[in-house]
Amino acid sequence: PVRVRFAPSPTGMFHVGGARSALYNWAVARQSGGRFVLRIEDTDAARNKPEWTEGIISALAAIGIHGEDSAFEGPYFQSHNADRHREAAQQLFAAGRAYYCDCTREQLKERTGSEHLGYDGFCRDRGLAFEEGRALRFRTPDEGETVVVDLVRGEPAFPNSAIEDFVIARGDGSPVFLIANVVDDLDEGITQVIRGEEHLSNTPKQQLLWEALGAKPPVWAHLPVIVNEKRQKLSKRRDKVALEDYLAEGFLPEAMVNYLMLLGWGPGDDREIRPYEELEQLFRIEDVNTAPAFFDVKKLTAFNGEYIRALSPEQFAAACAPWLVAPYAPWRPEAFDKDVFEAAASLAQTRLALLSEITSYVDFLFLDEPVEDEASWNKAMKAGAGDILSDARAELADVADWKADDLKAVLLAVGEKHGLKLGKAQAPIRVAVTGRTIGLPLFESMELLGRDRVLARLDAASK
Ligand code: GLU
Repeated sequence: PVRVRFAPSPTGMFHVGGARSALYNWAVARQSGGRFVLRIEDTDAARNKPEWTEGIISALAAIGIHGEDSAFEGPYFQSHNADRHREAAQQLFAAGRAYYCDCTREQLKERTGSEHLGYDGFCRDRGLAFEEGRALRFRTPDEGETVVVDLVRGEPAFPNSAIEDFVIARGDGSPVFLIANVVDDLDEGITQVIRGEEHLSNTPKQQLLWEALGAKPPVWAHLPVIVNEKRQKLSKRRDKVALEDYLAEGFLPEAMVNYLMLLGWGPGDDREIRPYEELEQLFRIEDVNTAPAFFDVKKLTAFNGEYIRALSPEQFAAACAPWLVAPYAPWRPEAFDKDVFEAAASLAQTRLALLSEITSYVDFLFLDEPVEDEASWNKAMKAGAGDILSDARAELADVADWKADDLKAVLLAVGEKHGLKLGKAQAPIRVAVTGRTIGLPLFESMELLGRDRVLARLDAASK
């Protein structure tokens, strides 16, 4: 049976690249009735924090990868397997596949004339025993090549002469990532290692370790790097990369999942917006691209808008809920009116690209005075705006039936009087009533807000 794994290091927020790797592994596991193992690679005690582990687990759950699904196994913790990592390193030493080395960096540099050439094999045949400070190095073959089977890249071949005798345990005896990662994969029965391209250079070394430990190496798949609009590798220092941040900004998990599935792979037709279940059926790891995948926030945002529109009114209201309370909502909690919100929500749902935008779309309904967006104000309150406001105020005071259609008719007439099309005539009124130039349809907004408050706001604005 297929056994894949996702093996994040809990050293920070959950990266969208990690989310993509997890989703591809998840798809492969579920397609074949196999298992997805979650392994937390928590051996870097200085950089790990338990809250990052919790963050990973809850971010995975948010994108549908969770322990209630029978394809899910774990989480396992790399630190719990530390004895086995040491044992494996010792096994390689005992079998003559690894040797102790006391060379310092300076000595190596002196001999090779460079800091960048790999280890020169000086200690290979010195027969050193372990002593504090001596690293354990794996003896790589001098001839031939290591060919890895990569489902995405074919069969890249690495000449063994170019693979240095790399360290597998540090001077304090602790095994390094390269071997811990292999031993865990081996112990967990992993059949396919699907991970980011940044690990490709580790792969020949790791495959040599698998073989030296007497095991059949897995099949590999290295996923293309993810780049920003400048074609730079997405980095947490430069770009917004945390899945949590996208979710907190009002991207729906379903939209994120859909978009992430397409980062390096496509279903082969133009229908890009599709639920995960469908993408999972279509996904083939062999069809993943090698070219860098562009993380296009604009496209993701457009996806999100589509997903928002596909929600039922109830789902939409529920999805908006976090942005209708502190710290996002600027109104007093008791000013919130659920019925008014629901009426406004049906107008907003067709317009939002991000759920977080809901706050600024509806705040004018629950604030005593609308927020004053200065840019909107300057843009709309040009010469002549005062006359429009006072004319509109006078006409609106007499409207018999306070309904959107009638309000529109009144403002059309006011505009005509000033030689203005409706759009131009609306602008100062919109800003006076809602505080902004952009928002829900004006007449419906005015209907919802009610005559008294609209008139009071027009009065306030024409002062
Ligand atoms: N802990 C490694 C990482 O987060 C995992 C590497 C792998 O998937 O093998 O990069």
